Amino acid sequence: MKTSDKIYIAGHTGLVGSAIIRLLEGKGFTNIVTSTSSNLDLREQNQVKQFFKKEKPQYVFLAAAKVGGIMANQTYPAEFIYDNLLIQSNIINEAYHNEVEKLLFLGSSCIYPKNALQPIREEYLLSDYLEPTNDAYAIAKIAGIKMCQAYAKQYGCRFISVMPTNLYGPCDNYNIQNAHVLPALIRKFHEAKIAEKDNVTVWGTGSPRREFLHVDDAANACFFLMENYEHTEIINIGLGKDNTIAEIALLIKEITRFEGKLVFDESKPDGTPRKLLNVDKINALGWHSQIDLENGIRNTYTDFEERYDYYVTQKERTVFGNNNV
Ligand code: GDP
Repeated sequence: MKTSDKIYIAGHTGLVGSAIIRLLEGKGFTNIVTSTSSNLDLREQNQVKQFFKKEKPQYVFLAAAKVGGIMANQTYPAEFIYDNLLIQSNIINEAYHNEVEKLLFLGSSCIYPKNALQPIREEYLLSDYLEPTNDAYAIAKIAGIKMCQAYAKQYGCRFISVMPTNLYGPCDNYNIQNAHVLPALIRKFHEAKIAEKDNVTVWGTGSPRREFLHVDDAANACFFLMENYEHTEIINIGLGKDNTIAEIALLIKEITRFEGKLVFDESKPDGTPRKLLNVDKINALGWHSQIDLENGIRNTYTDFEERYDYYVTQKERTVFGNNNV
């Protein structure tokens, strides 16, 4: 990509999209196109068609999606499957019709089977049944992968699909009911400290294991793959290490300087027991994560404290979003 190329970031206000913009601007890209959801509803085929016809982007980062944590996925499966199928289908199809040079589709590590061998290799996709708490979202993402592969096969499109592990960082969703675990716990510990509470509730047993990648690392990997990866097979993005939820909670407790106790609410779901990606493939291409978990969470907490009013007053954020996650 040249710094003058026209690049469309779908989902630019979300966790991943905003990180990709920060990265591209830092590298001197000057022709970035975005559109807010009030101007362009990506679920509406005709609006997406008009947008592509007018803007004619050369590259597309497809980071727009309806995303959420375990409770949001369990509560709104219809919205997760419907919105995501429409958003990605409209963009992928218009990217083809408007001769986009290359498109990168962001999937999620939840596309892999619930009981996949760990760390999860790319070829485990569709080898067994999915985790039921987020199967609607996962099926939509799998459809996106298959669509990119089908357009590559039938029309020769350079459409690639990348699978990030659970992501966190600036511009995340901090709405406790819908958020992923890391932002939810940052907010819970921070507010408990301010209110001088005795304890913070952590959902589930604390034993599930998750891998967390800072979104600036993820954006860096997306840029790297846009430049260096030409295959239709999916490719994982992660750091190759995981922790239990209890360990994560303790780390956040320390970073936020909360002095009370953790209480585990076992009436809440654990979800999939472990989700650790095998990152041999991206490492072999020459990309490695740079931000370790402790520094990543410290940086995220600083941003959360600085922009606390913004994060807690915004209405539900549904644009990508974690990762995942
Ligand atoms: P998942 O990775 O798709 O399961 O999504 P989440 O990030 O929402 O949850 C990951 C794990 O963290 C699950 O085992 C949750 O039960 C656990 N967890 C603990 N406390 C919280 C919390 O406050 N919010 C969320 N979303 N998850 C929590």
